[in-house]
Amino acid sequence: MYDIAIVGTGPAGVSAALTAKNRNKDILLLGRKDLSEKVSKSHRVLNYPGLPDIAGEDLVKAMRDHLDQMGIEITAEKVISIYAMGDYFAIQCAREMFEASSVIIATGVMPGKMLPGEEEYLGRGVSYCVTCDAALYKGKEATVLGYSPKEEEEAEFLTEIANRVYYVPVYQEEVSFSAANIEVIRGAAKEIKRRDDKSVLVLDKQEIVSDIVFVLRDAVSPGQLVPGLETEGAHIKTGRDMSTSISGLFAAGDITGTPYQDAKSVGEGNVAALSAVSYLAQKVKKQP
Ligand SMILES: Cc1cc2nc3c(=O)[nH]c(=O)nc-3n(C[C@H](O)[C@H](O)[C@H](O)COP(=O)(O)OP(=O)(O)OC[C@H]3O[C@@H](n4cnc5c(N)ncnc54)[C@H](O)[C@@H]3O)c2cc1C
Repeated sequence: MYDIAIVGTGPAGVSAALTAKNRNKDILLLGRKDLSEKVSKSHRVLNYPGLPDIAGEDLVKAMRDHLDQMGIEITAEKVISIYAMGDYFAIQCAREMFEASSVIIATGVMPGKMLPGEEEYLGRGVSYCVTCDAALYKGKEATVLGYSPKEEEEAEFLTEIANRVYYVPVYQEEVSFSAANIEVIRGAAKEIKRRDDKSVLVLDKQEIVSDIVFVLRDAVSPGQLVPGLETEGAHIKTGRDMSTSISGLFAAGDITGTPYQDAKSVGEGNVAALSAVSYLAQKVKKQP
C-alpha cells in the first residue's frame, strides 16, 4: 500500500512526485519513462522560470535528472481505472493492480473527443487495453485505432493472438509491421457501432467490421478513468487545494482545465502533493 500514487509523468506528475518524496511519503509514480510527449514536442519554452529559452527535450531531460537525483523511479504502466474503495484506492493497470491511500491524477488532457459509441460499447466491443483483453480475441478479428506511433507495438503484439488485425493510424507518420496478418487502413474515424454481435468502426469512406475495437490513446477521459468522479467536459473539477469530488483523490495539470501551461502544471502538482500529505495526516489522526 503506497501513501500516494501519482498517475502521469508530465510536469504536473513530476512536480507532485518531487514534493511528496520531499515530504517522506512512499510514492508510486506511474506513466512513461520519457515523461511527456507534449513537453518533448515543445520547440522552445520561453516562460519557464529559471530556464530561459529551453528546448522541450532539454526540459524533459532536466526533469528526468531531477527524479533520478531524488531516487524516484517511474513504473512504466498505463492506468486503466482507479477505484475508490472507501479507505484506499485500487489502481488497475494493464499488467498489474496497485493500492494507495491517496491518488493524484496528472494525466494531461485527452486529445480530441471520444467517438460516438465509444463510451456506450466500452467493455462490450470496445476496449482501451490490448494487454488486458487480447486473450479474449484469440483466433478472432480485431481493429486497433492508434492515436500515436507507440501504439504500433500493441497492435504487433495483438497479431500473435488474433487471426487478423486492422490498424487505423490517427497520425500522418508512415506505418509498417512485420506480421503478415495485419492490414493498415487510413481514414478518419467517425463512430463505433455494434451490428450482429460485431464491432463496426465507421471511417469516412468505409466501415471495418471485427470482433473488437481497441481505442489506444495516450490518455483516457477522466470519467472513464475514475467511475463517479465529477468532471466538467474533458476536465476534472477541483478546488484550490486540487481536491476532487472524491476524498483522497487529487488532480493537477492540464487535466484540471486551461490554461495549458508547464508552470501552471508544476504549481498544481506541488499543491496536490501537499494536499495529499495533509489528507494522510488527517487520516492518521482520525484512526482510533
Ligand atoms: C507543441 C507544444 C508546445 C508547448 N509549449 C509550451 C510553452 O512554451 N510553455 C508552456 O508553459 N506550455 C507549453 N505547452 C503546454 C505544456 O506542454 C502542457 O501544459 C504540459 O505538458 C501539461 O503538463 P501535464 O503534466 O498536465 O500533462 P502532460 O505533459 O500531458 O503529461 C501527462 C502524462 O501522463 C501520461 N498519462 C496519461 N494518461 C495516463 C494513464 N492513464 N496512465 C499513465 N500515464 C498516463 C501521459 O502519457 C503523459 O506522459 C506546449 C504544448 C505543446 C503540445
